[in-house]
Amino acid sequence: KGLIVSFGEMLIDFVPTVSGVSLAEAPGFLKAPGGAPANVAIAVARLGGKAAFVGKLGEDEFGHMLAGILKENGVSADGVTFDKGARTALAFVTLRADGEREFMFYRNPSADMLLTPDELNLGIIRSAKVFHYGSISLIVEPCRSAHLKAMDEAKSAGALLSYDPNLRLPLWPSAKYAKEQIMSIWEKADIIKVSDNELEFLTGSSKIDDEAAMSLWHPKLQLLLVTLGENGCRYYNKNFRGSIDGYHVKTVDTTGAGDSFVGALLGKIVDDHAIIHDEARLKEVLKYACACGAITTTKKGAIPALPQHSDVLSILQ
Ligand code: ATP
Repeated sequence: KGLIVSFGEMLIDFVPTVSGVSLAEAPGFLKAPGGAPANVAIAVARLGGKAAFVGKLGEDEFGHMLAGILKENGVSADGVTFDKGARTALAFVTLRADGEREFMFYRNPSADMLLTPDELNLGIIRSAKVFHYGSISLIVEPCRSAHLKAMDEAKSAGALLSYDPNLRLPLWPSAKYAKEQIMSIWEKADIIKVSDNELEFLTGSSKIDDEAAMSLWHPKLQLLLVTLGENGCRYYNKNFRGSIDGYHVKTVDTTGAGDSFVGALLGKIVDDHAIIHDEARLKEVLKYACACGAITTTKKGAIPALPQHSDVLSILQ
């Protein structure tokens, strides 16, 4: 099996013990390990694929706990480094009564932001068949340079580049800078996945339609995906486009649905790039990925909710 290397942040979300409250009203918090790139790596491994995570954690109890979670889930942590001075990133996250997620980050700076280009494990990065990343690692130096170097190394060694911006506006100095930076690496990616909200943000269009999606197309792109929550996703290739319906499930927490979707998709494509250009096969893979996303919403937290292959088969039948 080909290796999927996921680059970026891994952190601990602290989520209220009761739902529908603001951060200030929460009576207590539970630890929920996450970070989109780490979730994707675990999603791949849980479905039976081969994955590695590359990033930096604090040389502290939380950092070692997170590295342990990667390993317990069969994800290689050989590309993880530990910072002696800075702490593992934390985020307090709540789903308010109005359904919007509220984030409060503790990153001043956190270890993930301090990964340097020299600390990259180039052996792992160059052996990637797919290299996946987001945009949080672009926000500040030195992590930004490490991200750019890792991406270029993976590409030169022949990996497909997969990009899920995972917009977290509160982390950026301004919305304008966020958009500029997210778009600054746009044309390097072979596969891009955005959510409906990100499509609106990046295009400035208030309509989630084909025209808005296609305005994000670039000449070397092979596959563009727009995920639509419970409504499934839309896909765009140079030669075809279409949509996949969502699955009806009892949703309790949508955290990690997008990462589960991406992990499932990459796990199928890694050993057979031709799927991207074969609409019938791509649709089957996207149905599988949507099922994974749907299952992930049926349990609290991201990592505990990521499915195994057998869970997906039962919902597909
Ligand atoms: P997140 O940032 O929460 O990880 P996202 O916004 O990147 O997620 P979504 O569009 O929420 O991505 O979800 C990805 C996929 O998961 C969707 O395409 C859909 O197939 C599935 N999914 C998400 N939410 C639901 C839901 N409530 N019911 C059924 N399926 C869902």
